[in-house]
Amino acid sequence: MAIGKPKVRRINVDGKLAPGVYAKDVILHIIRHLGVNGGIGYAYEYGGSTFDNFTQEERMTVCNMAIEGGARVGYVNPDETTFEYLRGRPYAPKGADWDAAVARWKATASDADAVYDDIVNFKAEEILPTVTWGITPAQAVFIDEAIPDPKNLPEKDRATAIEAIEHMKVTSGTPVDGLKIDVAFLGSCTNGRLSDLQEVAKHLKLQKGRKVAPHVKAIVVPGSQGVAAIAEKMGIAEIFREAGFEWRGAGCSMCLGMNPDKLVGDQLCASSSNRNFKGRQGSPTGRTMLMSPLMVAAAALTGTVTDARKVFGIQ
Ligand code: SF4
Repeated sequence: MAIGKPKVRRINVDGKLAPGVYAKDVILHIIRHLGVNGGIGYAYEYGGSTFDNFTQEERMTVCNMAIEGGARVGYVNPDETTFEYLRGRPYAPKGADWDAAVARWKATASDADAVYDDIVNFKAEEILPTVTWGITPAQAVFIDEAIPDPKNLPEKDRATAIEAIEHMKVTSGTPVDGLKIDVAFLGSCTNGRLSDLQEVAKHLKLQKGRKVAPHVKAIVVPGSQGVAAIAEKMGIAEIFREAGFEWRGAGCSMCLGMNPDKLVGDQLCASSSNRNFKGRQGSPTGRTMLMSPLMVAAAALTGTVTDARKVFGIQ
């Protein structure tokens, strides 16, 4: 089968995200609007002032989920933020090799006058904390919205919406804010980085003794052993333990229901991972709602899907 000429879609996000809105909300918003098949045949090039000002780890969260949007690849053009992130890391080139590598990476960046096959624009100010309610990453709404009625969706999305409502045991018109959770999973390659853990720990620390809701199993799984070691050293792990989270060894864990880290029956999981397909977290009837790490922490403390900005007093 012929694969066809790859196309490039430039996705611009411009402006400043509001406090309590994160890179994860940006990518869930993008996939919500472009769909899980919208990127088929495309490479996604992310740009605009929001991406210019993102840290490298924030950019990685968005790029990581290009696949969930159907794209072949997702990237942000390399710049000084990229080079500073890589400089001095264990496997980064050194000395003259570093200079040659930086020159090579710079040459891969798109020209200012590059012509794209498609351009899509978003405004950062219009993005709110976002959660998925269904069985694909595109079935997402802002935290102040309700489960949609399939009748009001484009025809192409209706059958999946009906299937999702049945699987998720939710009702059209019900606000997502307030749905009771059983499990909170903070981790994965999308959102298990040191900056993710630092951001959540910073807010947890201000909660002064507030604990995970008694009916919730909450686990934190660093994205790598390196992240786990640094987080221990910085006291981040202890902040999570004191708040009632289980601090686990690094790995994929409940992103895909690895080893014992599985949902049981139809448990509902607030998850910072990247996939909410049926059975993804280890139980065929398990239910997954994707969201940012801070939204996962808010759900863990309150026992419900809720707006992290209210729980943590973010204005
Ligand atoms: S299974 Fe592991 S590598 Fe794959 S998406 Fe989940 S955390 Fe990332």
